[in-house]
Amino acid sequence: MGRVMDVPFLPLKRQYEQHKNEYDAALLSVMESGQYILGERTAAFEKEFGEYIGGMCVGVSSGLSALEIAFRALNIGEGDEVIVAANAYIACVMGITRAGATPVLVEPNAYFNIDVREARKAVTDKTRAILAVHLYGQPCDMTGLKQLCAEYGIYLVEDCAQSHGATFNGKQTGSFGDVSCFSFYPTKNLGGFGDGGAIVTDERTAQWIRTYRNYGSEKKYYNSMIGDNARLDELQSALLSVKLKYLKEINNGKEHIAKRYLDGIKNGKITLPRVFGNVLSVWHQFVVLTDDRDGLAEYMKARGIDTAVHYPIPPHKSGAYSYLGGSYPITERYAKTCLSLPCFCHTDDEIDYVIDMINGY
Ligand SMILES: *Cc1c(COP(=O)(O)O)cnc(C)c1O
Repeated sequence: MGRVMDVPFLPLKRQYEQHKNEYDAALLSVMESGQYILGERTAAFEKEFGEYIGGMCVGVSSGLSALEIAFRALNIGEGDEVIVAANAYIACVMGITRAGATPVLVEPNAYFNIDVREARKAVTDKTRAILAVHLYGQPCDMTGLKQLCAEYGIYLVEDCAQSHGATFNGKQTGSFGDVSCFSFYPTKNLGGFGDGGAIVTDERTAQWIRTYRNYGSEKKYYNSMIGDNARLDELQSALLSVKLKYLKEINNGKEHIAKRYLDGIKNGKITLPRVFGNVLSVWHQFVVLTDDRDGLAEYMKARGIDTAVHYPIPPHKSGAYSYLGGSYPITERYAKTCLSLPCFCHTDDEIDYVIDMINGY
């Protein structure tokens, strides 16, 4: 099999080039405005994104900051437990521990998301919240999680870092939780050109977060609490306002690729991702399972196709969180067998090539 095409995993620059003139104009307008922090571009983006998700939006410096601040805003900290899927991204667990709280890991279901029955079993009298991570762009079972949280009087926090625009029963992810967190890291569906994040919540909580992210200052030089410097800057805000206009286009493009993969990949050694009922996934990652994952990755690489692994080491197996201990066989199996295929700004020719190669594996 000769090498016939190079397929990069994340050709980020293509997205810029598609609307280059608009990004360049937005960038220059900020440079020329002389206003770089907490000006009108951030206010405008917060308004647009809040309306899009359905809540009050506060821009912050990253997805990790959003998570930490979300728990702090709910007064969740030392001695409190937060339930999260064991196969989530490490930043999810880090957001919990940075707020001082204790993560309680539970196994995921067949959709890579938190298993509601496992979450129920993990509730104790210390549980204060469930963190619903919509992994790979597919919404969690929000009916089950809402009900569980209501039953025990605990908070529902959403991590929508991979799910901008995804819906559950027609409702946006980020509109279910008491507090919802977003990341605008460049590779996310709504990605900026640097670090950035946002929180979507109710007006009262949003007001607390606006103060906290800016040194605990509601009014210049009056600091009512020990806060943080965790602001979204004007440049990212202006660029994100442009990209938000094209989020639907970006998500449609990913869905188009995912459909091609779902229809085209026919190989007994490969397990395709399953889609939960009543959800619209935004396919942040297209993740297949296969026993000889590293072998498949090498086979693809030899044919010019870049793949990635999300994620090879689950948090409880990392140096940072090995103290949590525990055994999570489903999570560990996913970590050993998962492989992410190119699913970004790829052409039909590139995707057809990936399908042909994977079918020949
Ligand atoms: C990317 C990501 C984060 C962290 O966002 P940063 O902006 O990189 O800090 C948190 N949770 C999930 C699920 C993510 O994918």
